[in-house]
Amino acid sequence: MSDVKRVYTFGDGKAEGRADMKNLLGGKGANLAEMNLIGVPVPAGFTITTEVCTEYNKKGKDAVVELMKAEVEAGVAATEKAMNAKFGSKGEAFPLLLSVRSGARVSMPGMMNTVLNLGMNDDAVKILAEKSGNATFAWDSYRRFIQMYGDVVMGVEAEEGQHNPFEIVLDKVKNEKGYKADNEMTVEDLQGVVEDFKAVIKESAGKDFPTDPWEQLWGAVCAVFDSWNTERAILYRRMENIPEEWGTAVNVQAMVYGNMGENSATGVCFSRDAATGEDIFNGEYLINAQGEDVVAGVRTPQEITLEGSRRWAERNGTSEEERAAKFPSLEESMPELYKELDTVQQKLEDHYKDMQDMEFTIQDGKLWMLQTRNGKRTAAAMVKIAVDMMEQGYFDEKTALLRQDPNKLDELLHPVFEKDAMAKATILSKGLPASPGAATGKVVFSANDAEEWAAKGEKVILVRRETSPEDLKGMAAAEGILTERGGMTSHAAVVARGMGKCCISSAEGLSVEGKNLTINGKKIAEGEYISLNGTTGVVYEGEVATITPSLEGNFAKIMELSEKNTRMYVRTNADTPADAQTAREFGAKGIGLCRTEHMFFEGDRIWKMREMILAEDVEGRKLALDKLLPIQHEDFYGILKAMDGYGVTIRLLDPPLHEFTPNDEASQKEMAEKLGVDISVVKEKVDALHEFNPMLGHRGCRLGNTYPEITEMQARAIIEAACDLKKEGLDPKPEIMVPLVGTVKELKMQEEIIRTTAKKVFEEKGIEVDYLVGTMIEIPRAALTANEVAEVAEFFSFGTNDLTQMAFGYSRDDAGKFLPIYIEKGILKHDPFQRLDQTGVGQLVEMGCEKGRATRPDIKLGICGEHGGEPSSVEFCHRTGLDYVSCSPFRVPIARLAAAQAALR
Ligand code: ADP
Ligand code: MG
Ligand code: MG
Repeated sequence: MSDVKRVYTFGDGKAEGRADMKNLLGGKGANLAEMNLIGVPVPAGFTITTEVCTEYNKKGKDAVVELMKAEVEAGVAATEKAMNAKFGSKGEAFPLLLSVRSGARVSMPGMMNTVLNLGMNDDAVKILAEKSGNATFAWDSYRRFIQMYGDVVMGVEAEEGQHNPFEIVLDKVKNEKGYKADNEMTVEDLQGVVEDFKAVIKESAGKDFPTDPWEQLWGAVCAVFDSWNTERAILYRRMENIPEEWGTAVNVQAMVYGNMGENSATGVCFSRDAATGEDIFNGEYLINAQGEDVVAGVRTPQEITLEGSRRWAERNGTSEEERAAKFPSLEESMPELYKELDTVQQKLEDHYKDMQDMEFTIQDGKLWMLQTRNGKRTAAAMVKIAVDMMEQGYFDEKTALLRQDPNKLDELLHPVFEKDAMAKATILSKGLPASPGAATGKVVFSANDAEEWAAKGEKVILVRRETSPEDLKGMAAAEGILTERGGMTSHAAVVARGMGKCCISSAEGLSVEGKNLTINGKKIAEGEYISLNGTTGVVYEGEVATITPSLEGNFAKIMELSEKNTRMYVRTNADTPADAQTAREFGAKGIGLCRTEHMFFEGDRIWKMREMILAEDVEGRKLALDKLLPIQHEDFYGILKAMDGYGVTIRLLDPPLHEFTPNDEASQKEMAEKLGVDISVVKEKVDALHEFNPMLGHRGCRLGNTYPEITEMQARAIIEAACDLKKEGLDPKPEIMVPLVGTVKELKMQEEIIRTTAKKVFEEKGIEVDYLVGTMIEIPRAALTANEVAEVAEFFSFGTNDLTQMAFGYSRDDAGKFLPIYIEKGILKHDPFQRLDQTGVGQLVEMGCEKGRATRPDIKLGICGEHGGEPSSVEFCHRTGLDYVSCSPFRVPIARLAAAQAALR
C-alpha cells in the first residue's frame, strides 16, 4: 500500500468519509458515508476517490488498477463482512452482488453509467436462486446484469436505425408470450433471455461475457472512469461549468433487491415538491422492480403518498376504485414501510437543511436508502423552498439568499400563457406536468433537428417517445419537450427541470413513430405549431399567446432581501421609455446606458439622419440636425420621465456613420430619389464612408470632435427635455456620456460643447437642472490614463464589451469563428464577452477605478457592458468597488440578487 488513501469504506453505521468530503468522494459517496453516520440504513460498500480518476487519466488503466488493488480488495472484504455474503461465492455463503456507480462532486444525471448485480455468473445465479428460494428473482437479476454490463462496459449498442439488441430479445419474448411488462417473464423465459443476451454480446463485442467476478469488477470500475470523458459528460460539464479536473468517484456497494417479489420495491422520492416547492413529501415507486425501472418509464410508477396518488388519479382521469386497486400508494400497500420512509426523509431534510432527492429500495420488507442529495428544482421551487425553510427556522436570511442561483431566476421572468388565449386554445392532450412554464413552437422529432432549426432562429418543441442523455443538446435548443412515455422522474422530466425547460411527459393518446405524430387521432406534421403548459400538463394546438409572469409573493421576498443586503445598486440598459418602465418594475434604479443611435433607425427618422450624412458642409448638417432635434427631444423626455428621480446615462452618438447608409444598389437609388440627389452622390458618399476597420474607425467621440454640431444638437435635446420636465415638477437626472474616449483632450473638447450648450438652454428656458458629464471607459488607454480623464469626467461607465474587444484584440463581430474552438481547446475557459475576464480585462477596470478615484474621490463608477447582468462579473464589480452595474431589463433581478450575494460572501 502507498501512503495515499484511495478507498473509503462505509457500512453498519460506520464510515471513513463524511458529507463535507464531496470533493474527494463525490456527492453520492460523501452522502452514503454521512447517511451511515446518522443512522440511516444503507447497504455497505466503499468509494474510490475522485483523485484516482485524475490519476487514471494521467497514468492509464493498468498502473492505477495496480495502485488501488489492495485497498479495493480490502473494501470488498469489509463489505462481505457487513452484509454477511461472499463475492464470488461457490455456495459456502449468500452471494454478494455489487452495484458500481459513478458520483462526481455535483450530480450529473444520466451522465455516468451504473452497473447493478455485478458478480453474477452461471454459478452465482444458481446459488442465489437456491439461497433466496426465488429463482425468478435470481434470473431476472442475471439478465439485468448482462444487459447493463454489455451496454456500459462492453459498449454493445443499437446499430443505426435499429432498436437496442437487448430490447429486441426482450420484446420478442414478450410478444410471443403476450406479456405487457418485463416482470411477467417466467424463470424459463429469463433463462432463454440470458442465453440470447450472451449471444448478443459475443456477436457485438466479439468476445465472451466475462464470468469472473473480479474481472467484471475491474471492468466496471474502469468504465466509470472512462465515462468521465464521454461526449455527453463533456457536454454537460461545459453547460454547467464543471471543471474537467474534478473527476468522478466510483461507488461500489452491496446490492439490495427490489425485485425479490411482491414484498420488495424500489423508488425515488423528494422531501418537497421539486416543481412547485410545496412542502409535501412525494415520489414514485414500483413493486418488484429494480434500479432504473422507475425512471425508465417502462411500467407506470405509483405514487408514494396517498395524497399524491389521489392527485395523480385526478390528473389522469383514473377513478378512485381503479386507483386503489391497480395503482395504490406505498402508504396503502406497505403502510409500515411507508412510515419508516417518511421518518427517514424528514430526518435527512432536517440534517441537510435542504430539499432531498432520495433513492430507496425495499428488499423483502426491509427499507434501504441508496442515495440522497440536495434535489434539483425549478426556479419557482428554488425560491419557495428557501423562503419557506427560512420561515420554518431552518436557516437565516443570509442562507436563504445564498441558496438562490441568480441565473435560474431567469425562468421566473419568462412568459406564461395568456389566460384568455389559453381558454380559447384547443386542447390536444394532457400529460404529466413534468417541468413547469409555457412553451410554444414548431414540432420537431429529433434532437439534431431541434438544434438545427433552433440555430436558424426557429422556436421548436422536441417531441420524443422518451428522451435519453443523447438528446441533451436538442433539449437545450428546444423551447419545450413533449414525450409519449415516462413519469415525473423520467430522464426528460429531471433534465428539463434542471434546465428550466417546460416539459410534459406521458401525454395521453400521443403516439410518435419516426416523424409521424398523432395526438388523440389528430395528425401533427413536422413544423406545425403546438404549445405546452408544463405547469398543468396540457398540450394545445397551434401557437398560444404568452404574457410576462407576476413578480409577487416569494420572488418579491427574495428581491426585498437582496435590496436589504446589497451594497451596489442596479441600473438598466434601455433605449425606450417602455424598456425603462419594465426595468423599473424589476427594481432598476436608473439607466446605465441609453444608446441614442437606436433612436435613429425607427420609421422615417433614418431619412433625416441620411440627410445629415449627405450634407456637404456644416451649414447643411445643421439644417438636417435641426430636423432631428425635436425627435431626440421627445425621446429623451420620455426616458427621463420614465426614470424620474434616478440617474439616466445617455451616450452620445457612437457608431460609424456608414451604419446609417444603404449598401445595395436598389436602396441607394431609393435614397437618391428621396433626398433629391443623383445616385452618384449617394454612391460617392457611401464609398467615402467605407472603412477597413470600422470598429476602430471614425466613431464615438471622434464623430463629435469632427462634427461638433452633432454633439451640440444632442446635448441641446437632452438638456431641453430635462428643463421641460423640471418645469412640470419632476426630477430629471441626465448624465451625458461621451463614448470611446482615449485621451482626456477628446473628452475635454466634448465637455466644452456640452456645457456651453447647456448654459444657453438654461438661459433660454429660464430654469436650470443638475447634470453630469462623464465618459465610457472602453479604450484601454482611457483606463491607463484614468487619472487624467477624471479631471474632466464626473463619472466613468466601464463599457466592458469594447474594453474586452480591445484588450484581447478580438473583433466582437468576427470572434464567433474562433471563440468556440478556443473554448473547446481550453485556450479560454469562457467566452470573455459573456463573462468578464477578471485576470486581464479586470485589471483595466480596477486600474480605472483606482486612478479615477485618486483624482476625483467622489467619481461615480459603474459598468454597462453585457457583463453587468452576469453573476460572476457582478461579483467582480462588487469587489472592485463599483457603485452600480447596468444590464438589460430582464436581467435586473438576476443582477440584484448577484450583487446581494456578493455583498454577503
Ligand atoms: P443516478 O446517478 O443516475 O441516479 P445511480 O448510480 O444512483 O444513478 O443508480 C441508478 C439506479 O441503481 C438507482 O435508481 C438505484 O436505485 C439503483 N441502485 C444503485 N445502487 C444500488 C444498490 N446497492 N442496490 C440496489 N439498487 C441500486
Ligand atoms: Mg446513472
Ligand atoms: Mg441515483
